[in-house]
Amino acid sequence: MPATELTENTEKTDSRPRLLMGPGPSNVHPSVLKAMAQPLLGHLDPEFLHLLDGVQHSLRQLFSTQNRFTLPLSATGSAGMEACFVNLLEPGDRVVIGVNGVFGGRMADVAQRAGAKVTRVEAHWGLPLDEEAMVAAIRSTQPKVVAFVHAETSTGVYQNPETIARAARDQGALVVLDCVTSLAGIPVDLDGWGIDAAYSGTQKCLSCAPGLSPVSFSERAIQAVSARTHPVQSWFLDVGLLDGYYGGDRVYHHTAPISAIFGLAQGLARVEEEGMEKRTLRHKEAAAHLLESLAPLGFSPLVAAECRLPMLTTLNLPGSVTNQGEANVRRSLLQNHGIEVGAGLGALAGKVWRVGLMGENAQTKSVDTLRSALEAELSPGA
Ligand code: PLP
Repeated sequence: MPATELTENTEKTDSRPRLLMGPGPSNVHPSVLKAMAQPLLGHLDPEFLHLLDGVQHSLRQLFSTQNRFTLPLSATGSAGMEACFVNLLEPGDRVVIGVNGVFGGRMADVAQRAGAKVTRVEAHWGLPLDEEAMVAAIRSTQPKVVAFVHAETSTGVYQNPETIARAARDQGALVVLDCVTSLAGIPVDLDGWGIDAAYSGTQKCLSCAPGLSPVSFSERAIQAVSARTHPVQSWFLDVGLLDGYYGGDRVYHHTAPISAIFGLAQGLARVEEEGMEKRTLRHKEAAAHLLESLAPLGFSPLVAAECRLPMLTTLNLPGSVTNQGEANVRRSLLQNHGIEVGAGLGALAGKVWRVGLMGENAQTKSVDTLRSALEAELSPGA
């Protein structure tokens, strides 16, 4: 499509705001959009570097870590995942990965492509990982790396990292944790749990635009990268090279995405202003209100209360939805009410919806808007 046509089409598109209640992105606060619209600075301009220092400092606080190597990688959460595996694994290395949803499965795929020998410890979708099975696999395979997902967005399941991380550390393994959906929605404590490498995304509970992946590597992880016998296969994601820019010397590696980092700085400022305690409570209260409000319409949670995520709820669908075709109802919510909810993935496709209450959207009023729209769409005459 020629650029002129693209501009015309962009101007013609539906400009009504969307309420993004899917698995991400979530809505972005106007102050974040405003920050992103600021005039550019150069990526080596002292003013920008000062801002970047502040962003790295705030990310350390949010991840609860002293890790020097903590930075916003210039790509989405999948690049954060890839960065962990391509740096920490060499061909032939053993890795144990917990798989109870799409993103654990994706970790296994990425690790396999890095040439590692992958042991997948599978658990039923909708349940947390079986800690005993993970510990047994760690003890029997003596892996270099153990990896799992903190908040599985495909199922809405929370994973307590402590027992698995401790077992991995006891065997001398490095621990990788996916914090894409958890960061800024529930507490993340990398140093307390003994996590060596973690990655997140900006478009979920941080409520910033997609496009950056906050990552953090412990000194142990950095040493493991230095001890590699082969160079890291990815030039762009090589932590040694990235450290030249983000580590303080500020040597050109790639052109940092200035506008996205302006937005992230503002998003982090909003998290700090609210404080994680209040923010966690807000996510929990919004999720409780969702279940209470939609129960009378026949929706029920897929996941048991003790391992249910607050920022992403998977809902079993009532006959009033499945009889119309769940995809049709989602389309009506979007077209008639500007509300996006997420479809089920993989084995859960067609069976559940994934409703996100992330960051700015973790509010009872988002839930009330969804409920009114559903009542309108599911009423007998609709
Ligand atoms: N890991 C989890 C748990 C996710 O939810 C996602 C995205 O939804 C990813 C990884 C990949 O992140 P991105 O889509 O930003 O590349």
